[in-house]
Amino acid sequence: MAMLEKACQKAFGKALWVYHANTGACNGCDIEVINVLTPYYDAERFGIKLVGSPRHADVLLVCGPVTRQVAPALQRLYDATPNPKLVFAIGSCATGGGCWFDTYSTLGGADKVIPVDFYVPGCPPRPEAILYGVAVSLGLAPKTVGAELLRQESVEELARGESIVGEVRP
Ligand code: SF4
Repeated sequence: MAMLEKACQKAFGKALWVYHANTGACNGCDIEVINVLTPYYDAERFGIKLVGSPRHADVLLVCGPVTRQVAPALQRLYDATPNPKLVFAIGSCATGGGCWFDTYSTLGGADKVIPVDFYVPGCPPRPEAILYGVAVSLGLAPKTVGAELLRQESVEELARGESIVGEVRP
């Protein structure tokens, strides 16, 4: 993680150009992303700027679960973004499928299709959380919580009454 922060600071020290993609979101997360860019939160003062083409972007902000229909387009979007690039999954749907987890029409979170560097959960995440996530990624703000890995119980484990096993990472 420290290496990733250093790489981010070096590669994206002055400005971050951001491309925002909706891969099946209800629009709640999109509204908060746009909110971050309004004069109230004014992300442009940190050099964060929305661009209209992935070819101009340093960062992809992905909102929503990845629907089966949009998955190939998300892969093309990722391929079209020049390296080095960062991918943020914004909202509970993009981080792990959210309320659409395991439904027939979605594949789950963004990392089911493309590599994701940072996750900002919430339904939807507050604009402050999105800004904080970007600041942590650039090493401008300290990380205050550790990651916890969870897995879903199998049907057999549920039948035996076993609970979700969690593993805390530093
Ligand atoms: S996380 Fe919540 S607000 Fe965001 S796309 Fe999913 S349902 Fe909508």
